[in-house]
Amino acid sequence: MHFPHALETVLQTLERIRDESVNRPCASRSALEALDRIAPARGMENIQEPKSDVVAARDQHAVEKLASVNERVCACVKCPNLASSRTQTVFGVGNPEADLMFVGEAPGADEDAQGEPFVGRAGQLLTRIIKAMGFAREEVYIANILKCRPDTPGTSYGNRPPTPREMQTCRPYLMEQIDIIRPKVIVALGAVAVEGLLGTRAPMRELRGRWDSFNGTPLMVTYHPAYLLRNQSPSEKRKVWEDMMRVLERLEKPISEKQRNYFL
Ligand code: SF4
Repeated sequence: MHFPHALETVLQTLERIRDESVNRPCASRSALEALDRIAPARGMENIQEPKSDVVAARDQHAVEKLASVNERVCACVKCPNLASSRTQTVFGVGNPEADLMFVGEAPGADEDAQGEPFVGRAGQLLTRIIKAMGFAREEVYIANILKCRPDTPGTSYGNRPPTPREMQTCRPYLMEQIDIIRPKVIVALGAVAVEGLLGTRAPMRELRGRWDSFNGTPLMVTYHPAYLLRNQSPSEKRKVWEDMMRVLERLEKPISEKQRNYFL
């Protein structure tokens, strides 16, 4: 219950006791003075309104700014081979004010077809991970370093990782997304995403499970869900889940016993 409504309820109850009971309620002078100071603001119902307006305005602002970046991405032909082979650009999806942002490497065939990141089998696993963390997919933000599917000349199927040059060319769009969303934590999915974000190249066994920083934002590195599809070993899945629990702790989200014992 909001405070103004709670106050209103208290006042109504006191009035009822006064009118109906033999034992009239009594209050100290200082309590009455304190209530008096607040009471004019029985119109305090409005206190919640400006806050909501501010949040809504910020949300709207972020939506508009992201839409403006997306417009430029849609028209982008900086990588001519990718611009000519893509079905569409894949900008990003989710809450423009998300506390948690996932960054992968590049759209694959499914994402290129649907225009949304992480919608194939790996994406479905990522969605399961997000839900197990206690979020809806719409509550977080998901994007890739590259906004176009890396081309696979001569074949219409299969995916390839983006080249360092492609990542460098497309990275400014991601930087803008992060600047607008201002997440509290970024999760880099896989070694290519780490390379795109931090410029660091290293085996995943050295990178994952530790905190890095991306321009001051805490960044957790974990395996790409596609790796977990290839490697079904429970110990590898558990590692990812432990990384996600570190993220929840960093976000100060309570972790239930069920979550602690969870295996992907
Ligand atoms: S990958 Fe990025 S930089 Fe290259 S054409 Fe697509 S949107 Fe432009």
